[in-house]
Amino acid sequence: QHSLQGKAAFVQGGSRGIGAAIVQRLSREGASVAFTYVSSEDKAQALVKSIEASGGKALAIKADSADESSVRTAIDSAAKAFGKIDILVNNAGVLAFGEIDALTMDDFDRSIAINVRSVFVASQQAARHMPDGGRIITIGSVNADRMPFQGGAVYAMSKSAIVGLTKGLARDLGPRGITVNNVQPGPVDTDMNPADGEMAEGMRSYMALNRYGKDSEIASFVAYLSGPEAGYITGANLTIDGGFGA
Ligand code: NDP
Repeated sequence: QHSLQGKAAFVQGGSRGIGAAIVQRLSREGASVAFTYVSSEDKAQALVKSIEASGGKALAIKADSADESSVRTAIDSAAKAFGKIDILVNNAGVLAFGEIDALTMDDFDRSIAINVRSVFVASQQAARHMPDGGRIITIGSVNADRMPFQGGAVYAMSKSAIVGLTKGLARDLGPRGITVNNVQPGPVDTDMNPADGEMAEGMRSYMALNRYGKDSEIASFVAYLSGPEAGYITGANLTIDGGFGA
């Protein structure tokens, strides 16, 4: 119960889907939570209201993960509001889907900017406000390990980059007792990958469990990794995918 009482968290991309579930769950565990959004202003504000209504502390900050200075400023203002950042969750991500001739260099650059570059920027900035024993968790994807259909080359590349970044950052921050981990979901029912979408039947055919994951199942894993019982897990790429990668 309330394993994160007194902690301050920052979630990059928290207005919808897996990120919103993480914001809610960390808040339920007692953390104050700041999160960023770009387009979903209404959803971001509604999330803040619902957390405040249940006695929690939340802060929504508009900041495009593709923009380095916006991310740094958002983290600094969250640190100012809460006095520190104990937990960083890098969740913001985009899926540029298309086969080799369909993808543009803009798709490529945006995928790198949001799925990879922002993770380094936020980790560097948050670490400046992070007490010893902090947590950095990135939402990667099982597609780093298995990309069994056409059209996912750039997405898989971006999520594979997180594997190496996580290992290296864990080494850099290990002396401070800060753990750095990569959570790799399989198909999770969100706007990005709806369980009733046209990709869904194909997705299910790759899985050991014949169902999509719930955003709350990913949030639960992130809450565990954020908590005091997970202090010996670091530099790890942790898959939670219904057997998609098996
Ligand atoms: P959604 O598309 O449903 O939600 C994406 C969230 O990220 C929104 O809150 C969105 O905010 C935010 N976001 C997107 N781009 C930016 C940006 N440039 N700056 C700031 N915030 C941004 O995605 P999911 O919840 O499905 O995915 C979340 C993460 O999980 C991603 O990294 C994704 O790659 C990963 N993942 C998802 C899987 C799935 O099956 N759903 C499987 C494996 C990994 P806003 O609406 O305000 O723009």
